[in-house]
Amino acid sequence: MIIAKSREEIELMRESALIVSKTLGMLAKEVKEGVTTLHLDKLAEEFIRDHKATPGFLGLYDFPNTLCMSPNAQVVHGIPNDTPLVNGDIISIDCGVVKNDFYGDHAYTFSVGEIEPETQELLKITKESLYMGIREFKLGNRVGDVGFAIQQFCEKHGYGVVRELVGHGLGRKMHEDPEMPNYGRRGRGKKFIEGMTVAIEPMINLGTRHIEQLSDGWTILTKDRKPSAHFEHNVALVNGKPELLSTFRYIYEALGIESDEENEFREQSRVL
Ligand code: MG
Ligand code: MG
Repeated sequence: MIIAKSREEIELMRESALIVSKTLGMLAKEVKEGVTTLHLDKLAEEFIRDHKATPGFLGLYDFPNTLCMSPNAQVVHGIPNDTPLVNGDIISIDCGVVKNDFYGDHAYTFSVGEIEPETQELLKITKESLYMGIREFKLGNRVGDVGFAIQQFCEKHGYGVVRELVGHGLGRKMHEDPEMPNYGRRGRGKKFIEGMTVAIEPMINLGTRHIEQLSDGWTILTKDRKPSAHFEHNVALVNGKPELLSTFRYIYEALGIESDEENEFREQSRVL
């Protein structure tokens, strides 16, 4: 059952989402050659606790860390380790927190130094597909409309759209109804309702859509070992329209990037 949230609950969710956004912004400055994902994980845990929140992934389904760190061919759910990042890597950092009983959960794929042009393009298109999906998250639409938008766009670019892992409703639980696949058919699936809150998160592969899981029981990686990208936002359905709860602006500030990509999903009166 889809759980609609009150205005007050949506504001609490925004607070949780923004702690994740700030955590990712802090990490943006630290992601560089020679740094280990375990080190970044420790920084994130400290940062989250300093903000009087709790890491949302740590211990969830027995996950051992604060961040899911998935470099290169890893799609999602990679476990932080002591292998240093190297020039040319990409790394999806997925972060969750709990504050006031509500979860925030979003992700960004970072570049380490100079990356291959085709990988750069994969990141760009995957992030664009996230916004295409978010645009369809509105009253009158259904789950399939979001998935359709993401799938069509990514497949048009020749990419593989991961099927086995999906976005999800988000709230007092990390995974609520409905599942939000990154593929689908127009007008199919559950109907969106006012006040619902979701995590939309395309996982897009440069090559085949097929994946494997490592024997650690967590890490998902591409079958052909080509790179995979992952971007995730938390979105509420407010006044019939998608409103972003999370933001990449702290990442962009840290990296000196100018972007207006989120403007259309902001409450007009809100000054962030
Ligand atoms: Mg996530
Ligand atoms: Mg998620």
